[in-house]
Amino acid sequence: MTRSFSGIKPTGHLTLGNYLGAVRQWVEVDQHQADALFSVVDLHALTVDHEPARVRRLSRQAATLLLAAGLDPARCTVFVQSHVDEHTRLSYLLECTATDGEMRRMIQYKEKSARERAAGGSVRLSLLTYPVLMAADILAYGADEVPVGDDQAQHVELTRDLAVRFNQRYGRTFTVPKAVLPAVAARVMDLQDPTSKMGKSHAETAGIVYLLDEAEVVRKKVMRAVTDSGSDVAYDREAQPGVANLLEMLAACTDGKPAELAEGYTSYGALKKDTADAVVELLRPVRERHAELCADPGYVDGVLREGAERARGLARPIVDAAYAAVGL
Ligand code: ADP
Repeated sequence: MTRSFSGIKPTGHLTLGNYLGAVRQWVEVDQHQADALFSVVDLHALTVDHEPARVRRLSRQAATLLLAAGLDPARCTVFVQSHVDEHTRLSYLLECTATDGEMRRMIQYKEKSARERAAGGSVRLSLLTYPVLMAADILAYGADEVPVGDDQAQHVELTRDLAVRFNQRYGRTFTVPKAVLPAVAARVMDLQDPTSKMGKSHAETAGIVYLLDEAEVVRKKVMRAVTDSGSDVAYDREAQPGVANLLEMLAACTDGKPAELAEGYTSYGALKKDTADAVVELLRPVRERHAELCADPGYVDGVLREGAERARGLARPIVDAAYAAVGL
């Protein structure tokens, strides 16, 4: 059976981008078709300034939301990354496989480190090495597939390169995984700035829809989305990024095609209204189930405990084999 691994960082509240770009395919496809592992990758949250209590709270919230979105512990494994030591054990061996030049070429590193420096801060070394830890997350489980949004595609490419290089140097140890992107909404953009992705770790703005936003808040954010100066509704990511973003959201919510949906609209107002309604309907059951799960924290703890145990059992022999392969 195909094995898949994917993760989510507890660096903020989950967004519609996380849901459409990743979580929905985990729920609808991966947990049914693969031996799927999903991790709240909390170590990655330490690559930037963080408050300890907030990371813990956000980790639990992310895990609860994944279950609320429909991950079923009877079908898949849900766990917290720091509960399984194999991730950091393997990461070091991969640091000895990767090169510093390769790390510095990562687009996310360039963008995030520039943001940190512009804000007068210093850049943690872990921000540079973060894709290596991500490679360890994936390779430790022998995952064949990594269902992610488009922004993670470059990191999965790097993971492949590291797996191939390690295997060539030390003998076949790792499965070489591939990224699996959703057909639409692989990159949901900020509603107020459709040239920048909707990111959960960005400062809260009216351009980010959170999974736990009340229906009225979602409506307001979508209705106030920045569109374009023209008035035609056309699906053109370059010329009309704001409208294209709304069309992709609507298409993802209704299983339609953005270009075909565009033909049904003559005004931005009607498109926004339908998109807002579709997003509200999509998120309603997630919010309801989240409220139920919050009333039963013992259940979430149990799921995470069992998940970590299973994950450990899968990762340990693979990571042990990697240690043996390098001569330790
Ligand atoms: P974020 O960038 O919001 O902090 P993570 O790095 O935790 O998100 O990514 C979790 C998953 O959500 C990844 O698979 C990522 O590709 C996906 N994702 C994040 N933002 C978006 C977005 N705006 N559109 C589509 N997918 C996204």
